[in-house]
Amino acid sequence: MRYISTRGKAPELGFEDVLLTGLARDGGLYVPKTWPALTPADLKRLAGLSYAETAFEVCRLFTGDAFDDATLKGIMDEVYGSFEHSAVAPLKQLDGNLWMMELFHGPTLAFKDYAMQVLGRMFDHVLTKRGEKVTIVGATSGDTGSAAIEAFRDSANAEIFIFFPKGRVSPVQQHQMTTVDAPNVHAIALEGTFDDCQDMVKALFNDIAFRDKHNLSGVNSINWARILPQVVYYVTSALSIGATAERPVSFVVPTGNFGNIFAAYAAKQMGLPVDRMVVATNQNDILSRFLASGEMKLEGVQPSISPSMDIQVSSNFERYLFDLFDRDGAAVTEALSGFRETGHFAVSQGMLDRARAEFDGFRTDEDGTRATIKAVYEETGEITDPHSAVSLGAARQARDSGAIGMDMPMISLACAHPAKFPDAVESAIGLRPALPPRLADLLEREERMTVLANDYGTVSTHIAGIVATKENAA
Ligand SMILES: *Cc1c(COP(=O)(O)O)cnc(C)c1O
Repeated sequence: MRYISTRGKAPELGFEDVLLTGLARDGGLYVPKTWPALTPADLKRLAGLSYAETAFEVCRLFTGDAFDDATLKGIMDEVYGSFEHSAVAPLKQLDGNLWMMELFHGPTLAFKDYAMQVLGRMFDHVLTKRGEKVTIVGATSGDTGSAAIEAFRDSANAEIFIFFPKGRVSPVQQHQMTTVDAPNVHAIALEGTFDDCQDMVKALFNDIAFRDKHNLSGVNSINWARILPQVVYYVTSALSIGATAERPVSFVVPTGNFGNIFAAYAAKQMGLPVDRMVVATNQNDILSRFLASGEMKLEGVQPSISPSMDIQVSSNFERYLFDLFDRDGAAVTEALSGFRETGHFAVSQGMLDRARAEFDGFRTDEDGTRATIKAVYEETGEITDPHSAVSLGAARQARDSGAIGMDMPMISLACAHPAKFPDAVESAIGLRPALPPRLADLLEREERMTVLANDYGTVSTHIAGIVATKENAA
């Protein structure tokens, strides 16, 4: 399997290089050159397999010769064998044709574990084979950072530095990053906003001398290996409700960077019987506005109670745009550089029609999110986190508007455990959801973090100092 860049100017790579490279050299994102097919016979065979077995079967179609079968299978068994629910991504039926897929049974209680855990082990395997070490830097508004720290803790081949905005992540999210007692994990509270954290990471990567000296690597969702393992739960869930070409399923996905829903799109390209894909947004609704008008128009981010979706520029949307532009890298480059300059671009009516032939977009605002948490609790007894509620709010609108018929099986994704966002849940239903027993004392655990000024010299000196100390000790 070969990978090409969405900007059309970077070299074609195999999976192993795509894994370590992240962003392509032309500023684009890597996508598979062709989509491998899952035939109806393949799907029939997969329907009898466990989650880890399905993960192995799906991912091996993309990984080429990067891993032998025993290694890849071992990774999947180890990762998904440690999740807390034996089904890994269980479905809960909410009404006659609506299911909620729970994606919070991994170590940090959000769906990002499903791919990040695999990514961490793939990195370790490849780095050991090559005899290389990397310095991982990443910015987080909450969920990505803890998932990355859990995935790389105790890795002998990686030092990991995660920047979060000081005082602006939830106490549960902060403790998940700061209480991990592993010598290669470094949680940094930056005196600034999430955007400052992201800019700091970009500045580190743009400092070519620093990047090369410390072998910097990134783990955000522009890395194809963050998307690939997410394809698996679309396959397992569609198969477990018996989806077929005659009776396909539709998915509703709470969307920020467009990574998770792009995995649904990938599954559909491979032949999974998927009908509609619903982009669920909170009040930061640039994507649902795009699907209504064909115009991408930047507005300021309004902080919400579903903070992992407080995003205006969805990095993975570029992967879909590449297909919408018939894989014309120059056209993608032009549209996105215009967007960067003016905060605006538009697609033709024909392209909008094609996008709307498979995607819908619905927005759920703050009051709507709380009202959905309350309604779902009263109707079904399920306690949902605010991101999952944005998704269920969109599912309801999809039915009410007629976009999705009442007879269409629909799966709405629950991407975080309600105890990760207890304040929002309490404000909606007056109940404070409890953390699972293994994390019950999380907020009392001792924190380790470094507070740093939002200053490039301070940050780069800090990282260089730690990496040098480690190298001298080795
Ligand atoms: C990351 C995240 C999202 C957004 O997912 P994307 O892949 O960025 O679209 C939604 N909900 C939760 C809980 C998340 O952690």
